[in-house]
Amino acid sequence: MTTLTCISCGVEAPAPDSAGTCPVCNDPFAVLDVQYDMACVQANMTSQTLKQRPMNHWRYAELLPVHPDKTAFTWPVGMTPIINAPRLANKLGAGSLMLKDDGRNPTASFKDRASSIAVLHALQQGATHIACASTGNAASSLAGFAAIAGLNATIFIPYRAPKPKVAQLMIYGANVMRVQGTYAQAYDLCTAQCAEHGWYNRNCAINPYLVEGKKTCGLEIAEQTASNPPDWVAVAVGDGCSIAGVCKGLTQMHELGLLEKLPRVLGVQAQGVCPIAQAFETSTLNTKGHTGTLADSIDVPVPRNWKKAVACVAKTQGDFVCVSDDQITTAMKQTATLAGVFAEPAAAAAVAGVGQAVAQGIIDPASSVLAVITGNGLKDIDRVIKITGQPNDINP
Ligand SMILES: *Cc1c(COP(=O)(O)O)cnc(C)c1O
Ligand SMILES: [Zn+2]
Repeated sequence: MTTLTCISCGVEAPAPDSAGTCPVCNDPFAVLDVQYDMACVQANMTSQTLKQRPMNHWRYAELLPVHPDKTAFTWPVGMTPIINAPRLANKLGAGSLMLKDDGRNPTASFKDRASSIAVLHALQQGATHIACASTGNAASSLAGFAAIAGLNATIFIPYRAPKPKVAQLMIYGANVMRVQGTYAQAYDLCTAQCAEHGWYNRNCAINPYLVEGKKTCGLEIAEQTASNPPDWVAVAVGDGCSIAGVCKGLTQMHELGLLEKLPRVLGVQAQGVCPIAQAFETSTLNTKGHTGTLADSIDVPVPRNWKKAVACVAKTQGDFVCVSDDQITTAMKQTATLAGVFAEPAAAAAVAGVGQAVAQGIIDPASSVLAVITGNGLKDIDRVIKITGQPNDINP
């Protein structure tokens, strides 16, 4: 790691302890981006040296802002499998389809990639307490990794957080504050408490280190498909951190010569909450009039990382599409029945987006596509039973 630069004005910024935005811009959306000495990385991280590394995301240590010690090296995170899904590809009208199943991370979502970086960074700074505000996966993931690392965690959740995710927080032993208010209020309270008590702030959108963890998904896609990379990579988008990470990972591997061609990246939002898809067309953020979606993990009307998301998707010649809640539930069923992968609604949105992009002529029907399954379906049981209905009750 060399410097941090502002994605808005490009100024070099001093490394913040945890969360922090540009000191010059005075704009909450002016987030910082970690830079690396790519010549040094290229000399040390080669397809040969990678062969000897642990099968988790620390194998990419040169491209991470924290250096794992011996203990962290054993944390199980990343290197999730890629599953070929020919019947689902056929259904969606794509040439071929692969699913990267990130629901197989320790707390069953993509967020573990960021949380593992957060707890290691917090430990290395001597912090004993870490906090975040979240409605779901970021919180349960932080609680899980705080337990792995032996840190205290305080989590602020809004009143309407889904039950299975709250159960995860409680069993991992986090100190859970259910704020009797909105997500925005929980977020502001968390920021204030971190400042007051000196806690490490995991809030991903404004912590420049965490997106580097999300980047490892892109690094893995590159390594796992190196000789035959997909034409497109589809990712569901809420705050925009995940897709920004995936794009950065793919781009860096391409730059290092470890990925033959750079895939185009497709951002997928829900029709009811699509501020980043709109900003991709208009270059301005509209936070008004969003009606919501059943996919709680991407129900983000005020996305903090929209600028980074829009810029990095454009850099890959990518695009955005929006899908309805009906398309999302259909994709949940299809992903399970035609590929054997149980995806939570937000994750299934990426699959629905592939079908939508083919229908709109964005993805050519001959193309190869990889969709990132960002969370496991057991995260939202009530929703699943509503879709499937009850089993057949019979007498023995
Ligand atoms: C957080 C999350 C996303 C979206 O990530 P952002 O960084 O908010 O864009 C997608 N799917 C799942 C399952 C998530 O938990
Ligand atoms: Zn700036």
